[in-house]
Amino acid sequence: MNKKKEDIYEGFEQGPIRPPSEANSLLIRLTRNCPWNNCTFCRVYKKRKFSLRSVENIIKDIDFLHDYITRIKQIVKPGGYSDSEVINTLYNSFQEKDRMAFNAAMNWYASGMKSIFLQDANSLIMKPDDLVVVLDHIRECFPDVDRITSYARSHTIVRIKQNDLQRISDAGLNRIHVGMESGSDTVLKKIRKGATKAVQIKAGLKVKEARMELSEYVMPGLGGIDYSIEHAMETASALNTINPHFIRLRTLAVTNGTALAVEARRGEFEKPTDAMMAKELRLFLESLDGINSYIKSDHILNLFETINGKMPEDKEKMIRIIDNFFELEPEKRILYQIGRRMGFFRGPEDMEGSPHLERVQQACSRYGVTPENIDSVINELMKRFV
Ligand code: SF4
Repeated sequence: MNKKKEDIYEGFEQGPIRPPSEANSLLIRLTRNCPWNNCTFCRVYKKRKFSLRSVENIIKDIDFLHDYITRIKQIVKPGGYSDSEVINTLYNSFQEKDRMAFNAAMNWYASGMKSIFLQDANSLIMKPDDLVVVLDHIRECFPDVDRITSYARSHTIVRIKQNDLQRISDAGLNRIHVGMESGSDTVLKKIRKGATKAVQIKAGLKVKEARMELSEYVMPGLGGIDYSIEHAMETASALNTINPHFIRLRTLAVTNGTALAVEARRGEFEKPTDAMMAKELRLFLESLDGINSYIKSDHILNLFETINGKMPEDKEKMIRIIDNFFELEPEKRILYQIGRRMGFFRGPEDMEGSPHLERVQQACSRYGVTPENIDSVINELMKRFV
């Protein structure tokens, strides 16, 4: 019998992205690309066709990783001491296509082997029975792992029966990252998210009911200037109903090659400036109420990386960081905006006495950054991080 193209095993695979919080996770690819691929701001999987991988091939990947980890454990002593010659000989004995799996195993071993992230954009689109088989196999091979996580679309989650979601959770998938982006129906429709506020809420509550941790990504700036207030308030309103374990901020960058960039060029979408975005974020934080989620600002695109804390006790502290930004003199504010994107500052409070201030000043004068052009400079800098 002829195998379908996607069923032919062509070696270990890894997808292009993972959430920032999964930097130390082992990446196991269950599906390729995004089955939706319509969000106007996203170019990650553009022009790439979605496909499911066969369970058989996913298991081959897991077995490869398990075999490499077993061999690495025999060579690398506890505490990290290794015989690098043996490691190099082993590495060189592999064919090029197998070295990716070996590198993944080495990196994971070095970072403590505590978490696994299932790629790509929406692993829950797999049949629940198949997903459970994969999760069972992961647990069998790596019983000491604390966390197995995946991205999933709200639209997909609401279509899964609750008892299937529970079976997936029981099999070991214990955290879901959802790209909510916005709670505003207007914004969700404009960005072609394929989910309404009601669907986002229903999906979030279903994940929690299945006793999985829920991480909701929101995207400051996505409503543009026109819908900035609605975006902030409706997103907070959706999250107040869901009360997810984590709310993660990932600021909008308008990147070339996206439908949103075309809209921006035509003047149909106007990205808020840093100052507008900071106001939007302040309103968003202020509007969060009655929840005990952790807020995480763990993306380089964010203007304030220090906005991290638990609701409700850290709410005022987080808002204070934004107020500190507005209290800066205009020239200092520019230095902060540029220094932040150069990776020198995490929050306005980092500027005081910073050894990097001079370098930021030099960069600003070299590139002629002024209050008039700061926003276009920032937009260009942000494109580099996407
Ligand atoms: S669902 Fe996620 S990966 Fe797919 S197009 Fe939208 S943002 Fe991109």
